[in-house]
Amino acid sequence: MVPDRRAPIWCVAGAICVQLACYSESCAATSGALRTEVHAIIIHTISGPSCVDGHVVYSGAPGDTARWKKCFDQDPVLGIHYIIDRMGNVASSTPENRTANHAQGNNVGTLGIELVHSGDGKEAFGDAQIDALINLIRSIRTRYDIAIENIKSHAEVDKRTLQCGGQTEKARLDPGANFPWSKLRKALTSRSPSEP
Ligand SMILES: [Zn+2]
Repeated sequence: MVPDRRAPIWCVAGAICVQLACYSESCAATSGALRTEVHAIIIHTISGPSCVDGHVVYSGAPGDTARWKKCFDQDPVLGIHYIIDRMGNVASSTPENRTANHAQGNNVGTLGIELVHSGDGKEAFGDAQIDALINLIRSIRTRYDIAIENIKSHAEVDKRTLQCGGQTEKARLDPGANFPWSKLRKALTSRSPSEP
């Protein structure tokens, strides 16, 4: 039990990254078991909700893909396969052929994509981010047989709740009410520009 000198960044609920000392050799590993089967994609947004002083708040998820890739790469618990920021920059963290800890109870056989976005139902999703997401999912579906209906929100697969201000709130709402599901599904069911 020797403290890890790298002191990884821990992404806590509400997407606040803090430096934590780390006490396990496994801390640097964000990748889980090797796997060959992938049947679903789960879409996330980085920001909240979390409860502060009895109010549900969202961190807003500032920063770009590079910032959040560093955060996920170094997190001793959480993992994600891809990160896409508001400008449409895409980066991978956990390899596709390994399980990542991104959706409790739904990590096996799934790929997680994290959008750098508040996911609060107020901030709009820009075209650059959604177009990059569409292109990424098109690419993933050339490698794995993933049905359109198996592209899911974190909110629909994670039913946990949080207590806040005397109310019971849903703990996972991402990617939130503004996410353009119809645009995504329409793009994925039409031919891509590169197809003959
Ligand atoms: Zn999520």
